[in-house]
Amino acid sequence: MGTYAVTGSASGMGAAVVDRLVGDGHRVIGIDIQQADVTADLSTPAGRRAAAARVLEQAGGVLDGAVLAAGLGPAPGRDRARLIAEVNVLGVTELLEAWQPALAAADRAKVVVFASNSTTTVPLVPGRVVRALRDGDVEKAVGTLRLLGKAAPTFAYAASKTALAHWVRRHAVTPAWAGAGIRLNALAPGAIMTPLLEQQLATPAEARRIKAFPVPIGGFGDADQLAAWVVFMLSDAADFLCGSVVFVDGGSDAWFRATDWPRAVPARHLRRYTGRMKEFRAQRRRT
Ligand code: NAD
Repeated sequence: MGTYAVTGSASGMGAAVVDRLVGDGHRVIGIDIQQADVTADLSTPAGRRAAAARVLEQAGGVLDGAVLAAGLGPAPGRDRARLIAEVNVLGVTELLEAWQPALAAADRAKVVVFASNSTTTVPLVPGRVVRALRDGDVEKAVGTLRLLGKAAPTFAYAASKTALAHWVRRHAVTPAWAGAGIRLNALAPGAIMTPLLEQQLATPAEARRIKAFPVPIGGFGDADQLAAWVVFMLSDAADFLCGSVVFVDGGSDAWFRATDWPRAVPARHLRRYTGRMKEFRAQRRRT
């Protein structure tokens, strides 16, 4: 049986993951702003530092896995874009950076990060915001988001999850993660019935927009079903899964982008492709 850290453990999909892991006999260290083993506010640097340290202390320096589910949805609000950036991006990346040695100390540790299908189904998300968040520059991201007025939280949310998915794919394949035996992957849910979605549905205009959004199988996803995906991605069966973003969204991503992906490397990216081949060979020679 293993020791797992789960952020966002007090509600929705994080809580459903905790129930399943505990039910399977694992030890779980839950992190949340309320009702958790480690109570911390992941929207502040001090909160993130305290959360990271207290988990390491409670885990005795070895973590078999981590699930990063704490997150804020695109609700309206003056400072919401900044909060989304802090919690959804830095609340994941800073914790994972602090926990990397503890994950490497375990045998075949697994990490699941909650992204979202908003990564591919929200149009016109500014690339500048995604890049700033991917680099951890919240000030720069918020500066651009401020120009977007009322749409800022929606774009902040999609950008935060896209930056996170990129961060996962970038790091998953490096010596510090794949090379240290850690499997790092992301899950990209569609609309799942949790308090986060309920909060969005409480605003009539937002509820109309969500209900009109294309979901080919219809309805909303179930938190416990998503938790089952997480548990699978934490299991030995996922040993060969690395840097993947797994969409569980009732078909919305496929509806919008059926032929965008998978796609062969186009001629204009051939130089980058051969460069990556060389880099990989050089890296293998070094290790
Ligand atoms: P939820 O609101 O039920 O749970 C989120 C949890 O994060 C809560 O327990 C909350 O207290 C915690 N949290 C929020 N701010 C925090 C902070 N500053 N510090 C510490 N903890 C904080 O949401 P959920 O729907 O279960 O979402 C889980 C994850 O899945 C989130 O990252 C969300 O963005 C993502 N997601 C949700 C949906 C959906 O439709 N529900 C879709 C795609 C992705």
